[in-house]
Amino acid sequence: MKIKDLIDYGNKYLHKDKVKLIIGSVLDYNPLELYNHLEENVEGEKRQKIEKIIHALVNNIPIQYALGNTDFYGYNFIVNENVLIPRFETEELVENIIKYIDIYFPNPIKIIDLGCGSGAIGITLKKERNRCDVTLLDISEKALEVAKENSRLLNADVTFIQSDMLEEVQGKFDVIVSNPPYIAEGEVIESIVKENEPHLALYAKDNGLYYYDKILKKAKDHVNDKFFIAFEIGYNQREKVTELVHKYLKEVKIVSKKDLQGRDRMLFIFKNCE
Ligand code: GLN
Repeated sequence: MKIKDLIDYGNKYLHKDKVKLIIGSVLDYNPLELYNHLEENVEGEKRQKIEKIIHALVNNIPIQYALGNTDFYGYNFIVNENVLIPRFETEELVENIIKYIDIYFPNPIKIIDLGCGSGAIGITLKKERNRCDVTLLDISEKALEVAKENSRLLNADVTFIQSDMLEEVQGKFDVIVSNPPYIAEGEVIESIVKENEPHLALYAKDNGLYYYDKILKKAKDHVNDKFFIAFEIGYNQREKVTELVHKYLKEVKIVSKKDLQGRDRMLFIFKNCE
């Protein structure tokens, strides 16, 4: 198909500026330059990619699902409707985890990622700090298939467990990380998220707190004397999750951090990390 026909095709469904931006970005032309290439033929992967993006935008489907992959922390991760699309905020979580690992654990350690989804957090930690022994866990077999494929494609030597959080887990870890489902049932969220992303990965009972409680309740049986836990949290959950931490864990230091949008987004729980 010629570029001019692709533009005509896109214009049927979307505003013409959007169409030029999409075609330009896939073909690496700026939108104006496209007009010098109207007769050029676009076939194969590039044509498919343009058509998929147009289709996704028209049908309120996340572009990441339409393309089948997304970037996280500089790595390419496969995604599909069985896993949450990795978020920018979660990159901030990973960045902080790496910072704390370097400060408190310069030696080989064991990390577990609870509710790994696509594997973005756990696999990135393994890629960035190869000295860490990383286990990825999810209850969803279909999510684990995606995470396994990502570990293969990214050449990350990690371990997988299928479990409902810590239920089936044996052994102790130095770092527990989790971005669990934390949206309260009934909370209003963007329609593109609600209509496309797995509810299993989004929603939690007890006002979104269910999985923090579930993890924290069992955490002390699965950590060494010195450890830290890193949670992604909802913007309005800092106080409630902090209360849960104090309910189950003694003599810990809690640090919360905001995301780039200025919202409470991360909670770090340290024990014997000096
Ligand atoms: N941050 C995600 C969202 O806003 C939710 C992620 C989660 O529940 N863990 O859609």
